[in-house]
Amino acid sequence: MKEKFSCSHEQNAKKLFRNEGLKSTPQRMAVIHVLHSSEKYLSINEILDSVKEFLPKTGLATIYRTLEMFVELGLVTRVHFPDGCHSYTISPKDHSHQMVCTKCDTVINFPDCPIEGLNETLMKQKGFKINNHFVQLFGECEDCRI
Ligand SMILES: [Zn+2]
Ligand SMILES: [Zn+2]
Repeated sequence: MKEKFSCSHEQNAKKLFRNEGLKSTPQRMAVIHVLHSSEKYLSINEILDSVKEFLPKTGLATIYRTLEMFVELGLVTRVHFPDGCHSYTISPKDHSHQMVCTKCDTVINFPDCPIEGLNETLMKQKGFKINNHFVQLFGECEDCRI
């Protein structure tokens, strides 16, 4: 498979891999492509099924490891569902958080960060410096509330 994926997202991912000393393997590029082609968050099995269309021999463990790595790199955002499942999407450009509707599983981004400001307070009160945070809200979307 040669240069099958060449949109800007894939180019950016390649650049990031190079900077991190990682190889742009066909599986990694396929995962980026699949996530970028979808408007909604995808489960690991949905990602596997789509990747298999390009690379039939891909296994679940590879997809799992790839996604873990992408989340670590900040390339991909993972959303937790109440049943313990996860979904994935390409990280939004700007720092944002996710609201998950527990009735229809819709995920909505919100660009505000509830942690901003807390950093200074915690530093003053506890001497604690926040390096990273994970905030996700669970609730009911507008459609499900009716
Ligand atoms: Zn809903
Ligand atoms: Zn935040």
